[in-house]
Amino acid sequence: MDYLNIQTYEELLVREGFHPDLDFYPKGERRFGDVLGPYRFVKKILCGISSCHTPHLHGYLITTSDGFETAIGGDCGARHFGVRFTKERRRVESAMRRDQRIKAIQNLILTLPDMITTIRQLENDYRTLQDLKMRLMGATTPNFVKQLKERAERDGATITRSEPMTKDEAAAYFATSNKQNRTKQDWPQKEVFVAKLDGLSFFKVQFKDLLVTNLLEPLNRLSQTRAEEIEEMGPKELARTAKWVGNVPREIANAQSAIDAGKRFFAADNISKLVHLGADNSALAPMILDLRGQSDSSIRPVVA
Ligand SMILES: [Zn+2]
Repeated sequence: MDYLNIQTYEELLVREGFHPDLDFYPKGERRFGDVLGPYRFVKKILCGISSCHTPHLHGYLITTSDGFETAIGGDCGARHFGVRFTKERRRVESAMRRDQRIKAIQNLILTLPDMITTIRQLENDYRTLQDLKMRLMGATTPNFVKQLKERAERDGATITRSEPMTKDEAAAYFATSNKQNRTKQDWPQKEVFVAKLDGLSFFKVQFKDLLVTNLLEPLNRLSQTRAEEIEEMGPKELARTAKWVGNVPREIANAQSAIDAGKRFFAADNISKLVHLGADNSALAPMILDLRGQSDSSIRPVVA
């Protein structure tokens, strides 16, 4: 480790060479050495530079040119020792960041065995839903599915139909509009509710990217990564992997919500509604029958 993990002031007091109060140049010949580590205490301590003594919570343990150690305030280093201190502080911070990233990745690897049931379930659901999507494409047309996707993108779950207004409705409409044409072709129309599709948002997501490319494949790769390999990662790869690791819980939640939508969409009653969008009822019928059979068996009690 390239830095010290410091929790309490008491830890510092017992260190050999630690001094809570030291003279530095120009008060003496003593100069700044290295930064050993940052700290954040709950009680204020005094800065160890004798000409400063500023009370502070956040600061750094440093070494000196003559082999001593002291604790200095967060802003004191740059102020008293200039750019050499700033460089040292950055070195320590970057080492800490690297360490945190390695730990985050290793922690995820440790939790993978607990996640395996969730992951297998996601994989199964993914395959089932992809099959259902293919089957729907066969029972309709690829273009029909494409239109479902477009409908999903404009949040068009509600299916409506245009109907001519009644005389009374038209009278009310004319009273509030500038249009006064009363010819038959111009007769005002109204949208009438027909049905509402459930889980249509399933068609909004790039399901394969969401689940396989962004989640399952990297998890699989990571599960085969050894601890040494992580420590050997370059800064860029480490940063990228750690960032992805941080996003895993959210990625799982996103995948889960896409799967939930897919399950709601591919329910017998919901698929029946597709006839209102022009799907052929007889072509859909076998699929609807199977979906109904599945939901029946899933609610059947296990014990007779
Ligand atoms: Zn100070």
